Amino acid sequence: MNIVYLTTEAVPFAKTGGLADVCGTLPREVAALGHRCAVIMPAFRSVFRAGMEIESTDISFAIPMSPKKLIGGRLLKSRLPDSNVSVWFIDQPQYFDRESLYGDSSGDYPDNAERFAFFCRAALAAIARIDMPVDVVHCNDWQSGLVPALIRAAPDANPQLKGAATLMTIHNMAYQGNFAAGSFPWTGLDWSFFNHESFEFYGQLNFLKTGIATADHVTTVSPRYAMEICTPQHGCGLNGVLESKGSRVTGITNGIDTTIWNPATDVKIPVPFDPSNWQLGKAGNKQALQAEFGLESSADVPMIGLVGRLADQKGWDLILPVIETHVREGRPTQWMILGSGDKRIEQDLQRLAAEAPQQVAAHIGFDDALAHRIEAGSDLFVMPSHYEPCGLNQLYSLRYGTIPVVTATGGLADTVVDTNPETLANQTATGFYVYDFSPRGLDQAIGRALHLRYHEKKNWENLVGRAMAADWSWRKSASQYLELYDNAVSLKQGKHGRAG
Ligand code: ADP
Repeated sequence: MNIVYLTTEAVPFAKTGGLADVCGTLPREVAALGHRCAVIMPAFRSVFRAGMEIESTDISFAIPMSPKKLIGGRLLKSRLPDSNVSVWFIDQPQYFDRESLYGDSSGDYPDNAERFAFFCRAALAAIARIDMPVDVVHCNDWQSGLVPALIRAAPDANPQLKGAATLMTIHNMAYQGNFAAGSFPWTGLDWSFFNHESFEFYGQLNFLKTGIATADHVTTVSPRYAMEICTPQHGCGLNGVLESKGSRVTGITNGIDTTIWNPATDVKIPVPFDPSNWQLGKAGNKQALQAEFGLESSADVPMIGLVGRLADQKGWDLILPVIETHVREGRPTQWMILGSGDKRIEQDLQRLAAEAPQQVAAHIGFDDALAHRIEAGSDLFVMPSHYEPCGLNQLYSLRYGTIPVVTATGGLADTVVDTNPETLANQTATGFYVYDFSPRGLDQAIGRALHLRYHEKKNWENLVGRAMAADWSWRKSASQYLELYDNAVSLKQGKHGRAG
């Protein structure tokens, strides 16, 4: 099978979140199962700083963005590391050679509708030129959401796509690419296409809704989240559109790249360890973090780690008051935090770190190596998300023997099993759920975890051993995607006849 992935992020070329981990890994795993895969993404500035060889090509094209605006682009080429997966970059410096991917400190870039409409149209121009047959076009998140509709609008425009199935994967329902109707002409289509069956959502141009409504199949990144987004609570207004797709909305849990996230071989952590010597390993990594950040040097104090975007989604409204309480009451805990985003949350974290420098360390910024060190040195990883499509940090935590404390939502509920007498007895427990969604509820869940660590040593050791042994590699998820690609292609070809 031949699959083209359209995305704005893929490790190691561009990353702001989990989308990059998925699109940097899934194509490699699918290719390893004997299929031909390619990735198409924008040539953001970060692409040239990834330390990978980028080749130029002689493929160029021009997209008429408006009657008076013909925008040229050319293709650059590289590969996903350790694979034969080609990565094609749409090089258009005016749109993509910017410091960030989607916006700066003053908010989203004002021309995002134009930038990503161009990306969608340029990706189709690229597909026509890269000399690869295509069975599946796999779109990811709103930035590539127009593609299934553009293919439907001009079914004969690209012979390579005849009979190809389109798949739309939602990595986060809250980010939809919703713009004023005046942006619609960037699609290059006649206004007659601006209707509620595809591009239009309550008078606006909504990229994600377009993808959902017009793709042959829609997936999201965990089965629980697939159910949740069909409800008004988590559907962010698009639950009706999703419900109308019926069984063509499914969830496949993300895997993790176990070559990068492997405590036994991780070169980013001071003391590598495996399930046979995790106690020594974690103690060494904790000590190194304490020294690095000026935290009190103590083997016994529990270290609570947090890595993630400083966004409301991640439950900082629960976390900050709990840290505050622990500092105020002088509780014997340490907090090691890495994140960037919301300035208000950054300031609160910095204030807490300044107030209790031996108990709280907050590093503001994006630092992949530090994320690894935090996973390796912490005892608990706290992730009380309001919603979580899949979540990767809890999976990294499990693998590094760092027990996750999570809310039972989306992928967190699908990947972490709460600890209680029953799950301890049947040996399935791997973490702790926050039952009462409040700072008090989070504190109680942390309290349950620490009780087990300090008062039920054997149970704690079993819990860590089980967490580390859980298999969250991509193998299973990649086979599920393949099955889906297969079904989608058969359905499509049954309907349209591939040869025709
Ligand atoms: P989301 O995609 O909602 O941000 P995920 O848990 O799915 O959340 O994925 C987040 C990814 O980004 C993980 O690989 C995580 O380690 C990484 N990450 C997030 N913030 C930072 C940061 N400040 N520094 C380093 N890595 C980060």
